[in-house]
Amino acid sequence: MEFDTIAAISTPLGEGAIAIVRLSGPEAVSIADRVFRSPSAKQLTKAPTHTIHYGHLVHPETEEIVEEVMVSLMRGPKTFTREDVIEINCHGGLVTVNQVLQLVLQGGARMAEPGEFTKRAFLNGRIDLSQAEAVMDLIRAKTDKAMNVALGQMDGRLSRLIQSLRQALLETLAQVEVNIDYPEYDDVEEMTIPLMIEKGTWVKEEIQKLLETSVQGKILREGLATVIVGRPNVGKSSLLNSLIQENKAIVTDIAGTTRDIIEEYVNVRGVPLKLVDTAGIRETEDIVERIGVERSRKVLKEADLILLVMNHAETITDEDRRLIEATHGMETIVIVNKTDLEGQLDYKELETLVGHRRIVTTSILQDEGIDELEKEIAALFFQGGMQSGDATYVSNARHIALLHQAKTTIQDALDAAESGVPVDMIQIDVTRTWEILGEIVGDTVEESLIDQLFAQFCLGK
Ligand code: GDP
Ligand code: ZN
Repeated sequence: MEFDTIAAISTPLGEGAIAIVRLSGPEAVSIADRVFRSPSAKQLTKAPTHTIHYGHLVHPETEEIVEEVMVSLMRGPKTFTREDVIEINCHGGLVTVNQVLQLVLQGGARMAEPGEFTKRAFLNGRIDLSQAEAVMDLIRAKTDKAMNVALGQMDGRLSRLIQSLRQALLETLAQVEVNIDYPEYDDVEEMTIPLMIEKGTWVKEEIQKLLETSVQGKILREGLATVIVGRPNVGKSSLLNSLIQENKAIVTDIAGTTRDIIEEYVNVRGVPLKLVDTAGIRETEDIVERIGVERSRKVLKEADLILLVMNHAETITDEDRRLIEATHGMETIVIVNKTDLEGQLDYKELETLVGHRRIVTTSILQDEGIDELEKEIAALFFQGGMQSGDATYVSNARHIALLHQAKTTIQDALDAAESGVPVDMIQIDVTRTWEILGEIVGDTVEESLIDQLFAQFCLGK
């Protein structure tokens, strides 16, 4: 496939004082030569691949110097897009970077569309669709863990697993072909059905395993929905502020149409927390009073984690008891705050009330116990063996939907196989499963979907 040459500002991950303008396409090197002057007057077109060059960018007509730069020259196919790639590293702010971009556009490059570099990598066969989506997740990744999942997906872990499932399905389909071509051999039929059941069951189980990871995958992507509750004055706002200050809110986000629910993201020891309804804590103090009993119950029910705050310096009240009751059966950490004050709370009673739920004591005022709390949060989260960085997680909504479909179709095939339906009927379901799995890696995906997916990317990737 032949493409034109595209260019965009592509700030590296992690950002820094250096910005990069990236070009990709057949004209990338010659366009760079039009505006780049090295002290040795050597041309990039004559330079070997994967080399870095110091020099200046100039206006092609006036030779006026625009910017001091380092230019990386990488010829295809050993590049991200498999095309010739030029990366112009320049320092300075947005204005300079924009000037550099303008220069290469004048030199003949076209402004890249969002995601177009990644799209080319896909179209040129460098990466498959799930890897391309991983690039997008990487850009959006809110925590280190989420980043690792995206990286794992990018290096093809999910793709390899999906491809091995598809391979197994292909093998059964091949066997079906033999069966259809040679119906006179009875033993072929005898082999086909058991093979289908064996491979089909394996595929179904692997899909099921992947789907089980999707809950954790979603949490990694979106954060553990965390709600802080407690009666007035126990220290909810103080706790919220302490968590945000110590862990730097990563994203502040206003979801919904009104200012009803405000979410903030913090990263607690690698666990992404999405602190839900921080407005409720900050403004009216009482979530129940503010949004009503019904809705607060819903917020609680949808929470992945509840931080229930109580007061060490007061006896347990009926409202405390109601909250403990209302959060029964949910992932809860009970925080008894204000341990710097004289104790009034009956811990024996508290332990009876909360059952097996964890209790952490803190004095937020004196910054005590917060470490313990963070350890508890991390422990809760990593219990499911999540720390094993090499598992394959599915966290992408499109992948999850397709896996559910694939699970249904392979189950249909298995049911049919077991009830003695003719093999060519079962073949339809197996083929369909193979196609659906193919959509995850982009082998059987429609072009319109591809355009739509890549359009979601940030510019310059
Ligand atoms: P909220 O109503 O639950 O949000 O409670 P706040 O966070 O607004 O705290 C209520 C009061 O308790 C404030 O005056 C805080 O400074 C104070 N407070 C919070 N944590 C502690 C603590 O650990 N020890 C003491 N002595 N006071 C605290
Ligand atoms: Zn408060």
